[in-house]
Amino acid sequence: MAALPNRPEDFDTANHATVNGTNSNEEDLTRHVNGESSNNEVENIAADVIIIGGGFGGMYGMHQFRKLGLSVKLLEAGSSWGGTWHWNRYPGARVDSETPYYSLSIPEVYKDWTFTERFPGHEELRRYFQHVDKTLDLSRDAYFNTIVTAARYDTGTGQWHVKTDDPKRIATCKYLVMATGSSYKKHFPAFKNLDKFKGRLIHSALYPDTLDVSHKKVLVIGSGATGVQIVQTLAHDPTCQLTASIRTPNIALPMRQRQMSAEEQNAAKSFYQSVLQSAKQCSGGFPYNPAPKAYHEATPAERRAHWEEIWGRGGFAFLLSNYREFLADKDINRELYAFWADKVRARVRDPVKREIVAPATQPHWLGTKRPSLEQDFYEMIDQEHVTLLDLQRRDIAEFTASGVVTVSKSDENDRQHHDYDIVILATGYDSLTGSLLDAGLTDINDTPLSAKWRHGTYTYLGLTIPQMPNLFMVYSPQAPTALSNGPPIIEIQIDWIAAAIAKMRAEGVKYIDARSAAAEEWRDDIQKMNNLTLFPETDSWYMGANVPGKPREQLVYLAGVDTYARVTREALDGWKGFDVVKA
Ligand code: NAP
Repeated sequence: MAALPNRPEDFDTANHATVNGTNSNEEDLTRHVNGESSNNEVENIAADVIIIGGGFGGMYGMHQFRKLGLSVKLLEAGSSWGGTWHWNRYPGARVDSETPYYSLSIPEVYKDWTFTERFPGHEELRRYFQHVDKTLDLSRDAYFNTIVTAARYDTGTGQWHVKTDDPKRIATCKYLVMATGSSYKKHFPAFKNLDKFKGRLIHSALYPDTLDVSHKKVLVIGSGATGVQIVQTLAHDPTCQLTASIRTPNIALPMRQRQMSAEEQNAAKSFYQSVLQSAKQCSGGFPYNPAPKAYHEATPAERRAHWEEIWGRGGFAFLLSNYREFLADKDINRELYAFWADKVRARVRDPVKREIVAPATQPHWLGTKRPSLEQDFYEMIDQEHVTLLDLQRRDIAEFTASGVVTVSKSDENDRQHHDYDIVILATGYDSLTGSLLDAGLTDINDTPLSAKWRHGTYTYLGLTIPQMPNLFMVYSPQAPTALSNGPPIIEIQIDWIAAAIAKMRAEGVKYIDARSAAAEEWRDDIQKMNNLTLFPETDSWYMGANVPGKPREQLVYLAGVDTYARVTREALDGWKGFDVVKA
């Protein structure tokens, strides 16, 4: 993709090195980047633990592993903390997890921090990560602007050898923790002549800090969680001639954003420990109330009243407090979609637009693709200066220097050219596996991970990979990841890794290596459970179906965060599923 114009891979360093001029990592960055690379010697970053990735996983991991008395260093591709929130600066980017559940359960951290909104925006989230960094004193062990290109374990020395994009910077460690996130590797669809476009072409994860869209013709491709937020926000500028492409309409749910006072949050802090821990004891990483009854135990009137109630609460309550059966039973799912469509169709006056964004015929099973939480998306797309490009009826045939040619699906002679100044690709990620596959991991038999996972993903517990001893993953494939609120599942996984390392040290274990049979069984169990649901019937990134050529398989552990925590803990007892090699 290097040939693409206007796709500045270095946006990050050009525009993101300082966040409103307040990047507290600048000094550390300068020290690490300039201070240690000024001579010709190769710098070996040696530590007990090397963590790759500086989001929630990396930050919590560094803190927890230090508490074990381990030396820890962290390598991060971006120029600062925050992981996905370091990169995602597009208009309207905000988290769909509500306060306080999208934060770490570390008392020193939450003691002095309050958010301003129920669903915080990206700028505030980056300020939060700076607060975490300062409170836990993390930057002294972090190396930014450092991309890992290869890693291999040496069973003789018991060390991981890590290479980076800087030939003068390598790393060695006993334990390697991949906290590389689910949404790191950007997906660029193979649009014909994309490289011919002379306007501004931007992937949502490389959105510059400032971009004036007023009086500009802007096309947004993609209507996932990202596309909905971008369109909803840009549409507030009436001079922006905005086109939103919709291939699969998002079954978006009401966010019901609100301001939150510091007073309200501080008053609740006496209960934060139990509140934040309780998020780990439920299926989705949010302690939303479960439905009061099973679907069939409730009368139609009770169901309707329950749906109205959870619709009114906003956020993911509509999924997580709903009757669990809707993810497996088509009739229930259809009824739920009809409820949703009634609500949304009433908000869109234009009948053509209404049919595109909330079609009378259900576009996919509700809940089997990630819904966006919207605020005024449907009112915004209903305005005259916003055009919808219905990709159910037209294809993007090719890009030209000045825009895009679309062709009717029913008449190939019906071709239309549309001019655009800016095209925003909100086309998502090679999710869950992409960041791991790109890190150049090789197993002890010299087989690259890309070859091991060519026909399917094999992890054990969503935490380890066979023949990659002492490598651990966080926010990973085959864990609850995408169907969970991030911080609770990340804390569960890091705590598991910390417990595993502590146990290894207590027992004099050099390395643990997941057995292939255990990984096969873990994968099979996930696919079996998947087959009891409606997920396999939908093309989603949960199923690896958004990237051409990627194996189609359920990538998410479906039994929930609470079950996952229990099952993974049980495996630690007696090292079930692992080969254990003593020092
Ligand atoms: P996504 O969910 O994968 O959505 C990609 C969009 O691009 C889809 O609408 C897809 O259409 C469309 N698309 C892909 N290839 C296309 C092509 N060749 N032609 C036309 N359209 C194409 O990606 P995302 O919206 O960036 O979200 C990814 C994940 O990031 C989310 O699911 C969520 O987990 C996370 N996220 C979270 C938040 C938040 O918490 N607020 C915000 C943004 C993202 P189809 O659906 O038809 O494939």
